Amino acid sequence: MQGREPAAGPLPYAEITDEGYAVRVAETFTVQEYGPAVLLNGDCPRCQHPISCPIVNHVYRWSGPGTSGDSGYRTVLCTCEGVHPARPDGLTGCGAYWTLRLEVES
Ligand SMILES: [Zn+2]
Repeated sequence: MQGREPAAGPLPYAEITDEGYAVRVAETFTVQEYGPAVLLNGDCPRCQHPISCPIVNHVYRWSGPGTSGDSGYRTVLCTCEGVHPARPDGLTGCGAYWTLRLEVES
């Protein structure tokens, strides 16, 4: 079981993923149309900071025949503005990432 990490001090940067991240994102994030993309809004499943991730969803329409419905996987990286010690310069977020499958409407 992965538990909630205790809120004692800022979470250090770590490039990790967890099956539970995508599950929590699917349950808690809102999806908004954003031009040619969709915008996912919610709290990072690792650090709980608010993030919004634009995901362009038309790119894989030309990814080849026979892929309808099953090619919508996107890896999303936390890009929060929160403080995470040990984070490399130039990066944002806590390092958490997860893979979502988007349903595409054509
Ligand atoms: Zn995060």
